[in-house]
Amino acid sequence: MTKSLVEIMGADRSHWVGDGFRVRTLFSYDGDTDAISPFLLLDYGDPHFFEPNTGSPRGVGQHPHRGFETVTIVYDGEVSHRDNHGGGGTIGPGDVQWMTAGSGVIHEEFHSKAYSEKGGPFRMIQLWVNLPKKNKMDPPRYQAILDAEIPAIGFDGGTARIIAGEFEGNKGPASTFSPMNIWDVKIPEAGDVSLDLPEGHNAMVVVLSGYVETDGKRISAARIGRFSVEGSGVNLKAAKDTRLLVLTGEPLGDPVVGHGPFVMTSVDEIRQAFVDFQSGRFGSMPE
Ligand code: MN
Repeated sequence: MTKSLVEIMGADRSHWVGDGFRVRTLFSYDGDTDAISPFLLLDYGDPHFFEPNTGSPRGVGQHPHRGFETVTIVYDGEVSHRDNHGGGGTIGPGDVQWMTAGSGVIHEEFHSKAYSEKGGPFRMIQLWVNLPKKNKMDPPRYQAILDAEIPAIGFDGGTARIIAGEFEGNKGPASTFSPMNIWDVKIPEAGDVSLDLPEGHNAMVVVLSGYVETDGKRISAARIGRFSVEGSGVNLKAAKDTRLLVLTGEPLGDPVVGHGPFVMTSVDEIRQAFVDFQSGRFGSMPE
């Protein structure tokens, strides 16, 4: 039995994160958290052209996180990140930055200086991945995953870059706390592909460009098809060149209580996060 399409999610409105990231929140932990677990939120920064800027790079300044991971995938442009545990760097097209906030980080996210001065097309995704309850207070960690480290596998005329998880025996480089798959998939015009998505995983197909048809329904650009936990695999037909982000994961089963930059399992833990942050227990950014 293949997985069935449960719903098509999306958002027509975009908003700015700081002054650097114009995003649409395609799903978030405001809704049914069991249906998207272990994922929490997906901000899609759809294509945007930034003019050259000789002033301070655009972005978002120092802010804290606790209890989950932020995964930034760049398609166009460059993002620079810096955190108070020494994590950081600049990532460009095809690269991924995987930051585990764990017990708490303070970080900042900006356009790189080089990109900022040159300007040009910009396109990215920031995905929030929840941590299992037992790992929420683990030490922070930072994984820079470069394009060259991500295996690209051909299948049915398409290609899949394996950021996390496994595809036809090929493993992605990201180290994760719970079983999941994150694949950057291209399907050519008139492609008709079957993706082997695991039984027991929540599964979402994010359409970035083009569109796909599945279960007799069309999923257009900047929309997400969410599929059943039951069953394995999905069939996708693409009438034109299509780019997808495929997300699957084993649901964590923990309560999700989120407030702003903190995602924990109870209101008490959220209160504690605010107390710890305000009393300086997250540390501070080096100058
Ligand atoms: Mn952040």
